[in-house]
Amino acid sequence: MGALSPLLTQASPVRAVRGEGVWLVDDEGRRHLDLTAGIGVTSTGHCHPKVVEAVRRQAGELIHGQTTTVLHPLLGDLAEALADRLPALGSVFFSNSGSEAVEAALRLARHATGRPNVIVFQGAFHGRTMGAASMTTSKLAVRAGLQPLLGGVVIAPFPHAFRYGWTEDEAVAFCLRELDLLLATTTAPAETAAVFIEPVLGEGGYVPVPDAFLAGLRERCDRHGMLLVADEIQTGVGRTGRFWGHQHSGVRPDVVITAKGLASGMPLSAIMASPELMGRGFPGSQGGTYGGNPVACAAALATLEVIDEEHLVANAAAVGGHLIDGCRRLARSHPLVADVRGRGLMIGLEMAATERATAGEAAARVLRAANEAGMILLTCGPEGQVVRLIPALVVSTEEADQALSILDGALAKVEADLGVA
Ligand code: PMP
Repeated sequence: MGALSPLLTQASPVRAVRGEGVWLVDDEGRRHLDLTAGIGVTSTGHCHPKVVEAVRRQAGELIHGQTTTVLHPLLGDLAEALADRLPALGSVFFSNSGSEAVEAALRLARHATGRPNVIVFQGAFHGRTMGAASMTTSKLAVRAGLQPLLGGVVIAPFPHAFRYGWTEDEAVAFCLRELDLLLATTTAPAETAAVFIEPVLGEGGYVPVPDAFLAGLRERCDRHGMLLVADEIQTGVGRTGRFWGHQHSGVRPDVVITAKGLASGMPLSAIMASPELMGRGFPGSQGGTYGGNPVACAAALATLEVIDEEHLVANAAAVGGHLIDGCRRLARSHPLVADVRGRGLMIGLEMAATERATAGEAAARVLRAANEAGMILLTCGPEGQVVRLIPALVVSTEEADQALSILDGALAKVEADLGVA
């Protein structure tokens, strides 16, 4: 008899069989408010009719069109649609998952610069394949069992003002000084191909990168001939209330990596760079069997259309603003909430440690209490101490209010259980 591998673990006991918008339906017909969007993937909501129709149509025409054998027209259409949203980086290379796209960006950076090392930040998450996991420092579990990891990855401190107990300006100044020190002592500019950063630190705890820090990185990359790579796998495609997360800052990266929300749940990722830079990269064999699959491309084109037609980027900004205000109100009445932060529909509530529970245990209890009340949540952060809200971009103000009300009840229950005043 077959059985699922014990390697698979779930944050909730829900056995989902159907989805619609921000709702999942389980095998007993119960509805659950989904504040995870499949970790930021179902940007247009579960099973948006236009995405479903595009997938159905494409599946009836051509399911697979291996890109190193033949080209199907949707690849060019999608590259164009993405370039419309980021004209300076109009050359696009597709693969299936975020991790694969990170590997492609790493290879591009190393080959295009002829330099071996990359800088990543404390708390970064870039994926689970060997190169991407070697660049991941959000928690040990991602790297466990993989050692020895890829060489040439240098870890720099991230301006996490809340963790340091500093102002944002202090954290930025400290981290830029430390970065300069790393470039003077550990990885010389002539050995450093690129700096990889998530515009909002994701799995590491939902911490927006201060604009001044991104500007400082841009300046150092320009000065030293290093590439600035924005890992927008979680922050891209409208999630933060701008189409790209880096657009809050005005800083322009050299490479953008996108996946997750791009195809509303079909597996698809891409890296984007200028034609000149892309032309300097990628020696040897590239492509893979499935990258740029036609059905996934059709889903992505439909996703981008829906995002435009339904003004979902503006909705993410507006409902995200409403949700974060609501979370800040909850923080004032719930001592368990130590910090609230985020951008658009990417919001984290950091739990406080109590006498009877670590912050991570408190967050796990909040997850369970919310589950019991019909809402699915995830945590992030090194100890899982941050409860994160990352609903589909179609979420309405009413649904956000429902989520806040369930969260209010879950926090109150956990505080009562833990004896927090
Ligand atoms: N980078 C970031 C910023 C991510 O959030 C993730 C996924 N959580 C990845 C890379 C890896 O993507 P995938 O799981 O599709 O390989």
